[in-house]
Amino acid sequence: MREVTLQEILDARDRRAEAQRRLLKQLARPLISFTMNIPGPVKDSPMIRRAFDEGLRMLDDALGEAGIACASRQITHADTGNEFLCAVKASAAAVKEICMRIEDGSPMGRLFDMDVIGLDGQKLARKEERRCLVCGALGRGCASRRLHSLEELNAAVTRLLREGLLAVDADSVDAMVTHTLLEEVATTPKPGLVDRNNNGAHRDMTLFSFQTSALLPHRRENGGASRAGGLCPHAPAGDGSGAEDA
Ligand SMILES: [Zn+2]
Repeated sequence: MREVTLQEILDARDRRAEAQRRLLKQLARPLISFTMNIPGPVKDSPMIRRAFDEGLRMLDDALGEAGIACASRQITHADTGNEFLCAVKASAAAVKEICMRIEDGSPMGRLFDMDVIGLDGQKLARKEERRCLVCGALGRGCASRRLHSLEELNAAVTRLLREGLLAVDADSVDAMVTHTLLEEVATTPKPGLVDRNNNGAHRDMTLFSFQTSALLPHRRENGGASRAGGLCPHAPAGDGSGAEDA
C-alpha cells in the first residue's frame, strides 16, 4: 500500500491508452478495460486486490455464460491500480450490456470501471450515468464540484469493499456448509442416525428431509445462525448442542 503521485497516475493512464490503441490496431476487436474506481492516492491494497479479482471472476463468468471468448487478455497489478485489458470476440454493444450489468448489479459494482472500447477507439457511453459513491446522486456533479472530502470518499470505498467481500465470503461459506452437510447425510453407516440405509432411531427425519435441510440457505445474519439448531441437521432445534436426542 503506497501513495502514488498524480504524475504516476497520469503516466499509468497514458500507458493504458497506448496499450489499448496497440491492441485495437493488432486485433481489430472491441476491448474491455477493467480498472478499479478508487479515489485518492492509494490505488491498491489487499482488499482492493481481492475486489478486483472478484470483479474479474464475475466478468469471466458472465462472458463465459454469454459464449463470448477473449482474443487476448492481460492483467496488470501496480501501485497505480489493477488493470485488466482484453479483446473480445463479440460486438461492443453486447459486451457493454454485460459490463453494466456487473457494475450496477453487484455490491462492489460501483467500484468497478468496466469500460468497453469500440473499433473506433471510443468508449461506449452508458445509457444512465453512474451514481456518486458517497451520496448516490446521479452523474459526476459531486466529483466535478468536489462536494465530498477524501475522507468521505475513502469511508464510502471501505464500506463498499467490506460489504462486498463479506457477501463473497458468505457465499463461499454457504457453499462449503452445503457440501459438508450433504457429505454428512451420505455417510453410511451411522448407527442410530439417518444414513443411506435407514432412519436410525429417528421417526421424524429421513435422508430426503436431511437433503432438503442441507440445501436451505444457512447464511449467518446479525451474528446468529439463520436456522435453529446450528449447522448440523442432527442437532435438536432447542439447545443447539448437537447431541442426538432420540
Ligand atoms: Zn455526492
